[in-house]
Amino acid sequence: MIEICGIGGYSEVGKNMTAVKFNGDAVLFDMGYYMQKLMDFEESGGDRRTLNYKSMIQLGMIPDDRIIDSWKNNVKAIIPSHCHLDHIGAIPFMAPNYKAPVIGSPYTIEVLKNSIKDEEYNVPNEIKTLKTGKLMKISNDVSVELIHVTHSTPDSTIVAVHTPKGIILYANDFKLDDTPTLGKKPDYDRLKELGETGKVKAIIMDALYSGANRRTPSEKVAREGVEEVVVDKINEGNAIFASCFASHIARLKSFADFGRQIDRKVVFLGRSMSKYVNSAEELGIASLPGVEIIPYRAKIEKFLKKMKDKGPEKYLIVATGGQGEPNSVLSRILKGSLHFKFTPNDTMIFSNMVIPVEPNIMNRVEMEKAFKQQGVRVVTSATNPNVHVSGHGSLKDMEELIKMVNPENIIPSHGDLKKTEPLTKLTDKLGYRVGKELHLIENQTKIELK
Ligand SMILES: [Zn+2]
Ligand SMILES: [Zn+2]
Repeated sequence: MIEICGIGGYSEVGKNMTAVKFNGDAVLFDMGYYMQKLMDFEESGGDRRTLNYKSMIQLGMIPDDRIIDSWKNNVKAIIPSHCHLDHIGAIPFMAPNYKAPVIGSPYTIEVLKNSIKDEEYNVPNEIKTLKTGKLMKISNDVSVELIHVTHSTPDSTIVAVHTPKGIILYANDFKLDDTPTLGKKPDYDRLKELGETGKVKAIIMDALYSGANRRTPSEKVAREGVEEVVVDKINEGNAIFASCFASHIARLKSFADFGRQIDRKVVFLGRSMSKYVNSAEELGIASLPGVEIIPYRAKIEKFLKKMKDKGPEKYLIVATGGQGEPNSVLSRILKGSLHFKFTPNDTMIFSNMVIPVEPNIMNRVEMEKAFKQQGVRVVTSATNPNVHVSGHGSLKDMEELIKMVNPENIIPSHGDLKKTEPLTKLTDKLGYRVGKELHLIENQTKIELK
């Protein structure tokens, strides 16, 4: 019998964690962070230095893994699927409770190790890399495999756990992109090969956008969207600013390439930029020649002053903070606290989506308003739909993946039931019955597969 426990990420978009157990061996997929809860805590005056494992569980910031307390000694591996914080962010606080190695793809592990070093966390677990396409034995009966897939950060994987009772696939997060602008297409051959064995017992699948009945557009579309707004005569003589997630190396590379094409110095601002970009360059995943990264506040202030003197029209600046976070570099420039002032006809490109929760939505509305009040031309996916595409698949991506791997059971993940339930439009058609082969679960749910 195989047991699966949805620990986190099934009642919210965040803090992903799932456990799988076969006889005496258990594997944990992801230990994610729920960023929103940290923001709530800090906004109500909390101090993050006072937080520990217990208080973080109580505040809902990390998955509540006490439900698998009785499996603790069975855990043989902790496997993050990719480097996003909602998948790896809780590892430093939770992994030390298990006597098991953390195993992930090279980029995921590089980012994790850099975070642990930067924040000076104490993580005694062994941390191992496993390249995609390779298997690793973690016990007599069980081996794990990482399968390359496309998403919005490099080296994302679908995890396969091979047991004598069948294969469990963990596809959280993914989209099927046939024309990625960085790295390869998903490893369709391997996925089909697994499907053809008829042994895929279950797939745990990112169903966040199951409500959208289409295939998510390729990153190539966003690259063209970025090109269109950056390489545009309208920008001549004016500053160009953009915001993008720091882990989205493909998108950052598009900004770097087109900034260079129009002879601008490309500068990334912020600490997370240096963490993700340096990790990608170190591993040879991407090269961003000529890009300057300025991680620290004091230096950012100095740089912006220099930029003002030299002429803002000579630069393209990419910063984080596109969620409208009140403390971000962008917010502080807008408030005039960083010795830089926008002038009318400057451009601000939001190349990201707003994580759809109340404070973010409001913060972003306020931020866009503040830019417009200063006369800045604001480009968003509302004005230019191609300036951002999602890294999460839609219903058609899910359909293709299901057909490829032919699973006996499906467990939708990456959101509450409102987000994952629309998957039934598809699974009904394919013959998966709710409660029988399709398991719509919330956090803290255990299921048994015979
Ligand atoms: Zn992700
Ligand atoms: Zn995610």
